[in-house]
Amino acid sequence: MTALRRPCGWRNYPLIRAHRIVRPDGVPMLAFWCPWCKCEHTHGAGAEPGNGDGHRVAHCHTPDSPFIDTGYVLWEQERAA
Ligand SMILES: [Zn+2]
Repeated sequence: MTALRRPCGWRNYPLIRAHRIVRPDGVPMLAFWCPWCKCEHTHGAGAEPGNGDGHRVAHCHTPDSPFIDTGYVLWEQERAA
């Protein structure tokens, strides 16, 4: 089991397990399926695994999404062993 290292302040935000994708223009992104918006949200991933981890402003467009108020913490799942 991979230990999650996150600063104390992160604990107050929803933790989102995200996976790395690469946009057609070659930019690496972190993506996850949003249960509120019923679509995939993406954020910049950075060059190395884990570079994109951390708190983000929500990309939600559904007014009912609780993520709009809190944002969320992205946690990249696929990592090199
Ligand atoms: Zn959303």
